Amino acid sequence: MKAGRWILRAELIDGKAIAEAIRGEVAADVARLTQQGVVPGLAVVLVGDDSASATYVGAKEKASKAAGMSGGTIRLPASTSQAELLALVEQLNADVTVHGILVQMPLPKHIDPDTVIRHIRPDKDVDGFHPENVGKLLIGHTDGFVSCTPAGVIELLVRSGVDTRGAEAVVVGRSNIVGKPMAALLVQGRAGGDATVTVCHSRTRDLAYHTRRADILIAAIGRAEMITGDMIKPGAVVIDVGMNTKPDPTKAKGTRLCGDVHFDSAVEVASKITPVPGGVGPMTIAMLLKNTVKAAERVAERAADTAGATKTVQS
Ligand code: NDP
Repeated sequence: MKAGRWILRAELIDGKAIAEAIRGEVAADVARLTQQGVVPGLAVVLVGDDSASATYVGAKEKASKAAGMSGGTIRLPASTSQAELLALVEQLNADVTVHGILVQMPLPKHIDPDTVIRHIRPDKDVDGFHPENVGKLLIGHTDGFVSCTPAGVIELLVRSGVDTRGAEAVVVGRSNIVGKPMAALLVQGRAGGDATVTVCHSRTRDLAYHTRRADILIAAIGRAEMITGDMIKPGAVVIDVGMNTKPDPTKAKGTRLCGDVHFDSAVEVASKITPVPGGVGPMTIAMLLKNTVKAAERVAERAADTAGATKTVQS
């Protein structure tokens, strides 16, 4: 607090702790399903040797193992042809021990990501990128899979007690992975939704006009610290999806991670804010695990239905 005036300092939304809680719930679900004879299995496919992708994939594999899931990472050389990758996807589609398939993006330039995504069985598409799952999200059907990062943002809001009903929600960014599904979730008529949603992008005229109206501001831009405190409505909830690097001579690497929001100025204006790192980032993997459990759960339900039907026919 500065002498003579109160400074509003935002409460931190602890994505690490919330993700940890979700991972605990997932591990309990995995143990229950395993007892029923269905061990949730996640297959991650990495093509090439992009170092950031290798790090993400390593973290996904570690988390799925820690939750008790089966599966692992299939690493393919960058020279893998599209036909070879599609053949692998077909194989995983048919494998009954695999409930979730994730092909890590970006793919080498000679492979069309949309073709690959369309080849994944929608009921194993735990990344939620298949058009069938995107369509289900938009029309409000809950039996599909939702892209992990925006699904994680909704969990952060709900579990932090943020009431989205009737709120002005402004999403900056319109990518298929974050911005668009984020807006689609916020507009649904259910918990974590019912918001009045505005979507901004690089062609938006007067971005600050929109961000200053937001009760809930979600930044998914990919521009280091672009949203500054003066662009935020006092008391707003700020969710920073961005993962960028900025120079930092105090670090051995010479850089450090930062978000799309200028944290130091935003924290003085917002009521709640996610830090980077430790905000949205940990939620993405937690939601991937949750989606994989959902996929396995369906298989277990179908097996139980079939067993029930067989019993009825026999009796
Ligand atoms: P994209 O580059 O696909 O999309 C960025 C969006 O921001 C685009 O819609 C673009 O508009 C918009 N944009 C760019 N510049 C401006 C500007 N000056 N004013 C307004 N809008 C602008 O990125 P992603 O959606 O994939 O990712 C966004 C950020 O989130 C990145 O930092 C990424 O690293 C991070 N991320 C973090 C994840 C996590 O787990 N925490 C997961 C996924 C992403 P237009 O469409 O007009 O080009």
